[in-house]
Amino acid sequence: MGAENDPSLAIDQALADLRAAFLPRFRGATSEQALRDENAKILGKKGELTAILAMLGKAAPESRKAIGQKVNALKQEVEGGFEGCLEELRAKAREAELSAPPFDLTLPGREPVAAGHKHPISIVREEVIALFRQLGFAVFDGPDVEHESNNFTKLGFPPDHPATDMQDSFWTKSGHLLRTHTSNIQIRAMSSMKPPMAFIAPGTVYRRDDDATHSPMFHQLEAFLIDRNVTLAHLKGVLAEFADRLYGPNTPVRLRPSYFPFVEPGAEVDVACVFCKQTDGSRAGCSTCKHTGWIEILGCGMIHPVVLENCGIDPDQWSGFALGMGLERIAMLRYGIPNIKLMFDNDPRFLAQF
Ligand SMILES: [Zn+2]
Repeated sequence: MGAENDPSLAIDQALADLRAAFLPRFRGATSEQALRDENAKILGKKGELTAILAMLGKAAPESRKAIGQKVNALKQEVEGGFEGCLEELRAKAREAELSAPPFDLTLPGREPVAAGHKHPISIVREEVIALFRQLGFAVFDGPDVEHESNNFTKLGFPPDHPATDMQDSFWTKSGHLLRTHTSNIQIRAMSSMKPPMAFIAPGTVYRRDDDATHSPMFHQLEAFLIDRNVTLAHLKGVLAEFADRLYGPNTPVRLRPSYFPFVEPGAEVDVACVFCKQTDGSRAGCSTCKHTGWIEILGCGMIHPVVLENCGIDPDQWSGFALGMGLERIAMLRYGIPNIKLMFDNDPRFLAQF
């Protein structure tokens, strides 16, 4: 094979041309994709350096080794150049992002997004709060984690009452528990303020209950009023007004005697069923009211004199009433919701209905 047919010189020339050209080509790329495309044109399967390598087979055997080394050396240079340029491009992009004007987070989104709305429990809570405010009650708040004396003892719960059991309440290690009702707020208000007073106490409460109609966490709203000569008649007046405003004018209300440790006398309150009400005002009976025509909505009573005493209020001078309701129950009755869990699953298909 004559030297004039040996492609070694042509390969040398091609390598020298490529060595001079690759870096300016890389630097000319303005995006990462353009840089990768340029790199593929040189090192890819059908790339220029790969084509030069293919010429190696035609070179004189004695010069193949040297040419092979030159090809590999250039390949490494190209790879190093590519990595360097890639890093430069990325640094430039970062710099541009950091020095750009900040995003205006107050701009409206481009896609039309449906506005959210309130949860049924929030709707009912706000409605009931507004209703009691109109009747002259103010809102009082208290902690979710409460000392047992404010949650049980001062309310007249005997030490062996089932609610004080480990199985029924969520206890912490220090004689505190997650409040089992909002009545702890009543104790706090009566202990820190002098009567007369009229408050509502909305809040989250916790019990070890978990089935279709009970959730370990639920919402209560309590109302209490203390003044001179407050009687059961005042309580019934407030209840009648409450039922009228929540379920419509002249909604009948009845009190059934019941026992709660912190009231005497105590009662459960039924309103005439709103689901089977006829045009003449009578009730036909339905599954919601179990065909009685009445629905239980809350518990109430006259605040026990011992509870007043426990909070430093003289029961000979003052008397008062308290009533408490579960907001889930009010919402379930209002909207005909069959399972309390629906209100805590946060399924948009359920929530979108309110
Ligand atoms: Zn009914």
